[in-house]
Amino acid sequence: MKGVLFNIQRFSLHDGPGIRTNVFFKGCPLRCVWCHNPEGFERAPELEYNAVKCIGCGRCAAACPEGCHTVADGTHILNREKCVRCFGCVDACVAGALLRAGAEYTVDDVMAKVELDRPFYENSGGGITLSGGEPFFQPEFALALLEESKKRGLHTAVETCGLCPEDVIRRAAPLVDLFLYDYKITGEEEHKKFTGAGQEIILKNLRTVNGLGRQIVLRCPVIPGINDNERHYSAVAALADELDNVVRVDVEPYHDLGRAKYAKFDREPKFASDVMSKDEKEAVRSRIQEKTRKRVIIS
Ligand code: SF4
Ligand code: SF4
Ligand code: SF4
Repeated sequence: MKGVLFNIQRFSLHDGPGIRTNVFFKGCPLRCVWCHNPEGFERAPELEYNAVKCIGCGRCAAACPEGCHTVADGTHILNREKCVRCFGCVDACVAGALLRAGAEYTVDDVMAKVELDRPFYENSGGGITLSGGEPFFQPEFALALLEESKKRGLHTAVETCGLCPEDVIRRAAPLVDLFLYDYKITGEEEHKKFTGAGQEIILKNLRTVNGLGRQIVLRCPVIPGINDNERHYSAVAALADELDNVVRVDVEPYHDLGRAKYAKFDREPKFASDVMSKDEKEAVRSRIQEKTRKRVIIS
């Protein structure tokens, strides 16, 4: 069995306890307008093009069987419409302007990388985190990785948007030490408008995870003009208090670090905002903290 990943990041410190290896799955059922990982949208590997690095050499045009690249007067133009994703142009591009985003891995491939840092996990209480994209968008591969990780005695965490069949959640739960579970927007219609899907299944799955006794950190992005309001803060707090196994609420203020990535995939960013100041972030954190007995931090 193989899964498609777009990164395996070692020495991650923000996605679960201790030092971790973060495995980024490609593909996501949502399209949050503020998403900073657009390379995680599609499940299949994709061509990534960074115009800043292009030196107009034309080697890609010679390598492409479909005529997707043209170079005139030193200016390179990529036409993705005919691209069959053979990635021949990536090998030809010595400047590194063309890259392959996403590759297939077996469970053994991933484990070989994860095992490199075992001493760090043991000293720090770390382990493996499945992230993305959405790990449960490739459910069988996610489950196989979790199973193998538990066999090897590793601490496991999954960052999830929660939109997947309940059966997947039920199978995964015994293999997951910590769910980093998104709670993005309050209200079915608002959720649909800004993420592309409603929140009914997501909330049902969250309650299932809680009912199965698994530890949960609620991850709450704060997006100016979208969910930075009292109604949402109250809903976050109420959910945290309702669910016994929510151990913490992480406030995740909007940042714009992913905006530049959209152009590399010929996608249009759907959202722009100023980033929040330190005081604004703290104000949101304390508004939620006032309403819940669970600990609220800025992550
Ligand atoms: S991936 Fe293949 S088909 Fe697509 S642009 Fe590159 S060489 Fe052409
Ligand atoms: S091979 Fe790379 S550097 Fe050369 S024209 Fe194509 S994209 Fe630009
Ligand atoms: S769930 Fe996460 S990865 Fe998927 S679109 Fe939303 S922010 Fe991006």
